[in-house]
Amino acid sequence: MHEKKEIRTVSAQDIAEFLIQNGEKAFRAKQINEWIWKKAVTSFDEMTNISLKIRTLLAEHFEFQTLVPITSQKSSDGTIKTAFKLHDGNVIESVLIPSRSRTTVCVSSQVGCNLACAFCATGKLKMQRNLTVAEIFDQVAWVNKQSFREYGHKLTNIVYMGMGEPLLNYENVLKSIEYITSEEGLAMSPQRITVSTSGIIKNIKRLADDDIKFELAISLHTAINSKRSELMPINKTQDLELLSDAITYFHKKTGKRITYEYLMLKGVNDSLADAKKLAKFSKIAPCKINLIEFNATDSEFEGTDNEYMNKFADFLESKNLIVNVRRSKGKDIDAACGQLANKS
Ligand code: SAH
Ligand code: SF4
Repeated sequence: MHEKKEIRTVSAQDIAEFLIQNGEKAFRAKQINEWIWKKAVTSFDEMTNISLKIRTLLAEHFEFQTLVPITSQKSSDGTIKTAFKLHDGNVIESVLIPSRSRTTVCVSSQVGCNLACAFCATGKLKMQRNLTVAEIFDQVAWVNKQSFREYGHKLTNIVYMGMGEPLLNYENVLKSIEYITSEEGLAMSPQRITVSTSGIIKNIKRLADDDIKFELAISLHTAINSKRSELMPINKTQDLELLSDAITYFHKKTGKRITYEYLMLKGVNDSLADAKKLAKFSKIAPCKINLIEFNATDSEFEGTDNEYMNKFADFLESKNLIVNVRRSKGKDIDAACGQLANKS
């Protein structure tokens, strides 16, 4: 038996050629493509306007390597974390985060992560592999349906803040966004998609060259080099100076504002001196700062107290910076940022 190809790695054109070779009409490929990307089906049987003969033919040569949901946990605040088994047995997690004004899915881009940030649970899992385009797309499509089922409306936002470093899976991440945003796909707005990176310099520049339409968030966490290297080993080779160059380049090319993620760690990065450094760094390009409440992981860190967090925010605002204090969601089920570690 020949190996079946995952249908979503095959272009519409190649499907058309396949159909012609098998004595079928090429225009069917367009319909098939619509089933795959617009309706996000995960089996040939669902393609009801395609003849049984063609569906059988397709199923002989191609397959859907679908995500299999294994557990879903619901938090008291409505956040739902779902673990999916991949066709090779690896497990990833996605999180549905409903709030008053939006419904967000947080998707994974890799199985585990090799960057080993000191505060992050995912960083303790050795990176097994990159996710495929279909595996990223499926998380969005599946959680979109889940959102409709659970809360009666579709997703409004997508954040690439689950497991993994999206910019180390550059091509698949960008292709997944193409299918999520294109008219032939889910037709969601790129302005409602945010990709978060720990700061892969070369690929921040590549995003600029590719003139992306989605939003970029950078996990900064401190604007002091020595501290950042301790918290985030990536900073040892890709430090704040290089990051600052990349950000300048990115802003010049795209005209886009950057979002900085700043995790508030008690006694580590939350002093007035830290705030001053951050304010200075933030002058590189127009930006928005998200101060993030720390979620407990198996680490020595503790989160900054509320009162202190507000003071930190006030200082930044006094420097005319846009600041959001982001309260954590889904903490009771380890579904919050940095807690995804396949504990379920
Ligand atoms: N690898 C990418 C995207 C995934 S991490 C990145 O690092 O940006 C998504 C976000 O979760 C990042 O901003 C990360 O710093 C944050 N995060 C990691 N551990 C966390 C924790 N314990 N509490 C709160 N946020 C955390
Ligand atoms: Fe990887 Fe991001 Fe976690 Fe760092 S914070 S270990 S880059 S997933």
